[in-house]
Amino acid sequence: MQIGLFGGTFDPIHNGHLRAVLDVMETFPLDRCMLIPAAAPPHKARPDMAEVSDRLEMVRLAAGGVEGLEVSEVEVRRSGPSYTVDTIRHFQKVLPSGTRILLLLGVDAFFEIDSWHAWQELLGAVPLIVMTRPVGDEPVSRSAAAEFLRRRIREGYCFDPEAGGFLHPDLPTVYYRKVTLLDISSTDIRRRIQNGRSVRFLLPEAVERYIVERKLYR
Ligand code: ATP
Repeated sequence: MQIGLFGGTFDPIHNGHLRAVLDVMETFPLDRCMLIPAAAPPHKARPDMAEVSDRLEMVRLAAGGVEGLEVSEVEVRRSGPSYTVDTIRHFQKVLPSGTRILLLLGVDAFFEIDSWHAWQELLGAVPLIVMTRPVGDEPVSRSAAAEFLRRRIREGYCFDPEAGGFLHPDLPTVYYRKVTLLDISSTDIRRRIQNGRSVRFLLPEAVERYIVERKLYR
């Protein structure tokens, strides 16, 4: 059994998140993937962030009926900052032994991973699946990821084309996966709403309806 953990602020969840996760589920492949909204994201907290209950509900609406996608409230229920390492420890405890847990994240988040709480423990605990994402005008190349690993994480990672990831003699693999590049971000969606522009086709219709009903991001 291979299970993906995909955390985020999801303020709001959008088609960039969803398509990337589906691509990984199909091609990796993963048996299941947990979408995990952060209650108190250490890096992304903003005073005008939507309530966690709303962000959770939007994730539920987005995942509804999608086979293999599940929503976890583990970070919503935990007090204090939502550290990913704590979430990994939680799933290691509750999932049946022999389950392989992998952490999914976009390449923009990956490039900040060395600022995360207990990041060294995290990189030693589970393989990562880094998903491509347009950053600025360009998709980020694999060589930029290789350079980041070498300079900021640890020497010794080596790309293996068969595995589709960077292998290390002492650490779990860092997979690098090309997913459908959708230049969609929650920031852009919030801005469009504030400016009275449409967000149609950027996120699931049910999420769009929820945003209108709850008057979010105005
Ligand atoms: P914001 O614009 O508010 O910073 P965001 O769109 O980056 O938000 P988050 O909820 O912060 O969304 O992201 C959660 C995870 O999803 C991160 O690992 C991020 O890299 C990844 N992600 C977000 N958007 C995309 C996308 N369009 N393609 C691939 N990965 C994405």
